[in-house]
Amino acid sequence: MTEDGVMPPDPGGRRRSGPGLSLQDARARLLAHLTPITMVERVGLREALGRVLGEDIVAQTNVPAHTNSAMDGYAVRGTDLPAADEVALRVVGEAFAGHPFAGEVGAGESVRIMTGAVMPRGADTVVIQEDVTEHAGEARIGSGHRLGQHVRKAGEDLARGTQVLNAGRRLTAADLGLVASLGVPEVSVYRRLRVAFFSTGDELRSLGEPLGEGDIYDSNRYTLRGMLTRFGADVLDLGVVGDSREALRAAFERAGANADVVMTSGGVSVGAADFVHDILKEAGEIGFWKVNIKPGHPVAFGRLHGGATFFGVPGNPVSTMVTYYQIVQPALDYLAGAEVRQKLSLRARTSEPLRKAPGRCEFQRGCLEQGEDGELVVRAAAPQGSGILRSMSLANCFIVLPEHSGPVAAGEQVSVEPFAGLI
Ligand code: AMP
Ligand code: MG
Repeated sequence: MTEDGVMPPDPGGRRRSGPGLSLQDARARLLAHLTPITMVERVGLREALGRVLGEDIVAQTNVPAHTNSAMDGYAVRGTDLPAADEVALRVVGEAFAGHPFAGEVGAGESVRIMTGAVMPRGADTVVIQEDVTEHAGEARIGSGHRLGQHVRKAGEDLARGTQVLNAGRRLTAADLGLVASLGVPEVSVYRRLRVAFFSTGDELRSLGEPLGEGDIYDSNRYTLRGMLTRFGADVLDLGVVGDSREALRAAFERAGANADVVMTSGGVSVGAADFVHDILKEAGEIGFWKVNIKPGHPVAFGRLHGGATFFGVPGNPVSTMVTYYQIVQPALDYLAGAEVRQKLSLRARTSEPLRKAPGRCEFQRGCLEQGEDGELVVRAAAPQGSGILRSMSLANCFIVLPEHSGPVAAGEQVSVEPFAGLI
């Protein structure tokens, strides 16, 4: 792995700021260096929601298995339906879901049929009961019906031999139903990714501890836990690690021995107490250090000697979340054997001016709604400082302003990524 976007040491031992990779290059570099999980496990369908399918699912049967009625009504031969006036068809039996009619529907005959009941032999059309008057054993049917109406064909949902779901699919509720409709009780899924994380910073206190002067509570471990749990990882919370080389070295060792992925927050920038870069150089290889995004300029990717993938995200709470969603999560998808989720990108009109300097791709936090004219309108969720976590909490989308863009005037069109498509 070659290092790029790395800040070279200056004579004072402090690293200078320099250009980083574009977001696209960073994502491409990540995927080129990662190897997805291959180990699978069998799980019952009830436990499979959100898991990543480790096998292709091919339909071994037709769904539905039999041609059946889509409505309550009368099964008839389409050729008996009148072009004008009425016809009276003798009712020769009944068919219920789970209780087929054993006989055959002949010319001039009909069978009373319920939704889901197998179509009787001879019948090819259903006339809904609202359009029929039954009297003295005869069904009276008028004109205006179509041959083949209200019939669900065998295999019209899933035909035998169809590839229903591909390996790499993150199973949704609909997918579970689809697999169940095939009669399949369990599936192979990739084992969960194990992600260890810790926060770095002498000022950080865990919940329950008193705050000394200048201390703050560690919120990043809670956002990270939330995002990683949503993602479907097995999380290993290693707590707060102080700003010392020895403590960091030990934490890296412990995390790397117990996880596929190690994530840290804080300590990745150019301050005198930012040791993550130095320790990572000892403990592994660095893939990149800086990406041209805001927030989140310094964001580290690498591999520890033991094989674990490493991400160091900046400590500012908004930067932590933005770099996780924009850089870490696509990589986790890939590592987990999943299709990398495509982010839904929409165009919206900004209702207010947006501050922006050319140079970095910005992910501002926005509130997206539909304006009175039906057009999508977005505004800033809150002040945009990278320490203002409330902006993430209030927002429902990122406003994505590309590297080259300068300030945006009110009324201009911008790209937005709704969180709903992201998480
Ligand atoms: P750093 O990335 O370590 O330079 O930290 C940048 C800013 O984020 C500082 O103001 C830190 O106090 C703050 N910060 C770092 N880690 C956390 C955390 N885990 N929770 C909340 N704030 C943090
Ligand atoms: Mg720090």
